Amino acid sequence: MRETELREIFAKTNGHCHFCGDLVDFGKRGWDLDLSGRWEVDHVIQRGKGGLRSPANCLPACTRCNRLRWHRTGDAVRELLFLGLIARDEIKRGTILGRGLAELQNRRLNQNANRRRGARGYPAARDD
Ligand SMILES: [Zn+2]
Repeated sequence: MRETELREIFAKTNGHCHFCGDLVDFGKRGWDLDLSGRWEVDHVIQRGKGGLRSPANCLPACTRCNRLRWHRTGDAVRELLFLGLIARDEIKRGTILGRGLAELQNRRLNQNANRRRGARGYPAARDD
């Protein structure tokens, strides 16, 4: 994609992720271990569903949100983020629900780590 098209897409949200609203940095596109400020072009109608490559079908998304999106619609991603924020708050407050969610999170992280055992670039399982 040409830089003029990227700038057009970036300007649509004034440099913010269209999912979470975080500010992104035009010069930081794609994946990196440090995802702060990184962004990607999100195709609003996925290309596999007939969406066009043109800027008219594109919005900036932070890399973290875009990688969570996969096949999901924008509304489904926003719902996931919203539920995630609620869950995070419950965990931080140490409620009964939060403690249960933290336990589930730990179990999933350990299962994922076990599946990826031997693969490089993934963090070790958490034991806390
Ligand atoms: Zn985002």
